[in-house]
Amino acid sequence: MDFETKLDRLAEVAVKVGLGLRAGQEVVMTAPLEALPLTRLITRHAYRAGASLVTSFYGDDQATLARFEEGAPESFDTAPAWLFEGMAKAYGNGAARLAIAGEDPALLAGQDPDKVSRANRARSKAYQPALQHIVDFHINWSIVSFASPAWAKMVFPDATGQDAVMKLWDAIFAASRIDQADPVAAWNAHNARLHDRKTFLNERRYQALRFTGPGTALTVGLADGHEWAGGSEVARNGITCNPNIPTEEVFTTPHAQRVDGQVRSTKPLSYQGTLIEDIAVRFEAGRIVEAHARSGEEVLRKVLETDAGAARLGEVALVPHSSPISKSGILFYNTLYDENAACHIALGQAYNKCIHNFEQMTEEQLLAAGANRSLIHIDWMIGSGEIDIDGVALSGRAEPLMRSGEWVI
Ligand code: ZN
Ligand code: ZN
Repeated sequence: MDFETKLDRLAEVAVKVGLGLRAGQEVVMTAPLEALPLTRLITRHAYRAGASLVTSFYGDDQATLARFEEGAPESFDTAPAWLFEGMAKAYGNGAARLAIAGEDPALLAGQDPDKVSRANRARSKAYQPALQHIVDFHINWSIVSFASPAWAKMVFPDATGQDAVMKLWDAIFAASRIDQADPVAAWNAHNARLHDRKTFLNERRYQALRFTGPGTALTVGLADGHEWAGGSEVARNGITCNPNIPTEEVFTTPHAQRVDGQVRSTKPLSYQGTLIEDIAVRFEAGRIVEAHARSGEEVLRKVLETDAGAARLGEVALVPHSSPISKSGILFYNTLYDENAACHIALGQAYNKCIHNFEQMTEEQLLAAGANRSLIHIDWMIGSGEIDIDGVALSGRAEPLMRSGEWVI
């Protein structure tokens, strides 16, 4: 199969599996400039599937860099709220949202962490009205990836330009099941497997998960009425979509006040251009009270200070160590991929959809159930082949869920 065919298949998977686009729906797409070829193919597949209108917004790494290098220091609290309000309006009117990821993971590595954190904070705040439609799952949405040269160079530093790009494409196509005989059928089978695990965990109703491994002895209490999610899901507009392409995780909402113990990261976290490596934190009653990192510690501290919920958890996710992305052995420096290589936790905002009956609950009730609130949601990896996980039943009895990183259920 040639490259053009694979790229076209990825576009088809993005529209049919990722969005599950319904005829008559609008699509709002965001993409890096380099992803233009994929954006055009997706646009074509979306219209073929009956889209009423596809509108794309392009980001440019070089323009972002120019801001940090030349922008007035006092200007970094500015964000295009008008744009995000427009997006929120489109989602409110039923538009589907597709994001193409592929930015240079190290773009802002050399920039002033204070400027980076202020710009991120302003952006997160301005993005809130649009994000709310996504986190509350009002609409069908999805993220796919594009192998940009800068990203590829970071993942494969020893390969030359075009070689690195093709290697990264091979990894993206494999992880996204594009190279299988019938990618859409392969996704249906994969979704069925993830749904089985989700159903098992929902029936168990554990009060907590216990992670044990080198440098890790962590109890993650689960939110009251928590619901596990994974694979394709039905948005509140009734459309079945796969929010992440690829995806290997089942995940739920931890209790913001009931996380205790210590945990170490098992992969570097690439956060807005900075690599944060070997994170070691200690939780008390849900909050991180001690945080260290071998590199990027200053950025990590700024992240934790974003707001009151930034040092608490909003997600816990289980991924077997034998997941295809983990087996590839590639560090992608991209959360969409790396989070599907290992069990992970996320600092910050919780997904309301992972709480049973959230539509009928007030904000106070959601907080009481344990849902965390923050401007950030940052996943980082705590799983590996050395981690054991137990589910703690309401009776307090622990049951093995994973041993040496693999499911034992
Ligand atoms: Zn996750
Ligand atoms: Zn997450």
